[in-house]
Amino acid sequence: MPWEVAKAAIDYVLDHENSPEFAYENVIWDFIGGEPFLEIDLIDKICDYIKMELFRRNHHWFNSYRFSFSTNGINYDSEKVQNFIKKNREHLSIGITIDGTERKHDMNRIYKHTERGSYKDVVRNIPLWMKQFPDEGTKVTISSADIPYICESVLHLYDLGIHIVNINCVFEHVWKDGDDKLFEDQLMQLADAIIDRDLYKDYACSFFSENMGKPLDCKLHNQNWCGAGQMLAIDAAGNFYPCTRFAQYSLRDKEAWIIGNIHDGIDQNKLRPFLTLDRCTQSTPECVNCEVAEGCAWCQGENFDAAQTHTVFERATAICKMHKARVRANNYYWNKLYRKLELEGKREEFEANKKDVKPEIC
Ligand code: SF4
Repeated sequence: MPWEVAKAAIDYVLDHENSPEFAYENVIWDFIGGEPFLEIDLIDKICDYIKMELFRRNHHWFNSYRFSFSTNGINYDSEKVQNFIKKNREHLSIGITIDGTERKHDMNRIYKHTERGSYKDVVRNIPLWMKQFPDEGTKVTISSADIPYICESVLHLYDLGIHIVNINCVFEHVWKDGDDKLFEDQLMQLADAIIDRDLYKDYACSFFSENMGKPLDCKLHNQNWCGAGQMLAIDAAGNFYPCTRFAQYSLRDKEAWIIGNIHDGIDQNKLRPFLTLDRCTQSTPECVNCEVAEGCAWCQGENFDAAQTHTVFERATAICKMHKARVRANNYYWNKLYRKLELEGKREEFEANKKDVKPEIC
């Protein structure tokens, strides 16, 4: 992204302080897509400009902002990145993406034009990251080939000192016959390990949630799953999208859904469908009446990409059998855990301290 585009994008957002699209008390400036720390000089300049402008304009986001990064962690310990962290420490969230054990991580994360995986270059930076951001979690994405490594990978991430593992299955139509059974087996092995080794006290995995696997009433639970259309994604050319998943480089079968640009602003007609999205309007009757609907996620971009027509009102359900498998393993996990806690007389103490981790989908 050229500096001029970044500056114009920031000016556009800050010039519209009172528009409904930006009427939030706080803001997250999220650097995602590609590896942000490759451009640390530009990002430092962008962040300095944001801070100066918030101050100069006496903007209500002054001191109510966060810079958020999803990084592969490879140059996390470089002098420039570390200086940036020191400078912005109080307003930073940084998530390093590490997928689990070396064989799991290196299945998908290979250096360009080589067969070398990046695991070793990432894992050496985990202790420094955890020291600086002990409450951050990592994001793991599961596709068909990854299923056999789920249990060992989550346990490995715990061993590395990462306390929160956000993990989810991809929404694309990649699942083979039998994947749901394999997935359930992996989650039950993981459940046994977490409970038998008392890891549930200090570690969390978003696969296991008490808020999952029940029917949902459209009158009471009708909100959209994600924030597509409630946020603004901006590409290197200065185009606006309802989420980065609607940019051309993220789409498989559809053309990009551009909702404006830094010169002309937001086109409300292009944004409007996103403002009326809810769960039941876009779901099939099977999903509306589903006995285990709670926690069954969707990605708005994948819904659009997989839809028969140019619409965001058609829910993709390739994940269906994986969600049902997850619900079965989840029931096993909570049954086993509560039985153990009852036997040990520790249920009340656990209930008072427990945290639930909502799966991140992107
Ligand atoms: S995708 Fe399947 S599991 Fe999810 S709500 Fe629809 S029917 Fe239920």
